Amino acid sequence: MDNNSSIAPGDKARLPKTASRMKLTTVSCYRCRLAKAKCTGERPACTLCTARGLLCEYEVTREGVSRIQELQRQLGQANQELELLRWDLAVKTDVIQRFQTGSEQEAIHILARLRVGHSLEEIAAKPVKTGQAL
Ligand SMILES: [Zn+2]
Ligand SMILES: [Zn+2]
Repeated sequence: MDNNSSIAPGDKARLPKTASRMKLTTVSCYRCRLAKAKCTGERPACTLCTARGLLCEYEVTREGVSRIQELQRQLGQANQELELLRWDLAVKTDVIQRFQTGSEQEAIHILARLRVGHSLEEIAAKPVKTGQAL
């Protein structure tokens, strides 16, 4: 029996646009919510809190949450960049130290590898074996 399915396939597109206007509900402050009181919702302090001399606090709004998430994302990115820079600096310091403390032969070898286009990372990763032919 198919009598009940009266909606034709094309009907979906013609569904009326549902009014997606956000309801402007008054957000209760923390203390009013706890007391289940009717909060007037004023910022920074609602009338009830002001009247009682209480510190009025609101929970973080949705915009506030997304702002925090955005900041956390930026912080994560900055940390990653910092990590890369730290690594880069460590590699360079390592090569410079080998120039300073290694044998002259090693320094010449490192220099030779640098000049043929070896990256500092490669040089730092593979210690120069002294006595190796250039
Ligand atoms: Zn309140
Ligand atoms: Zn309040």
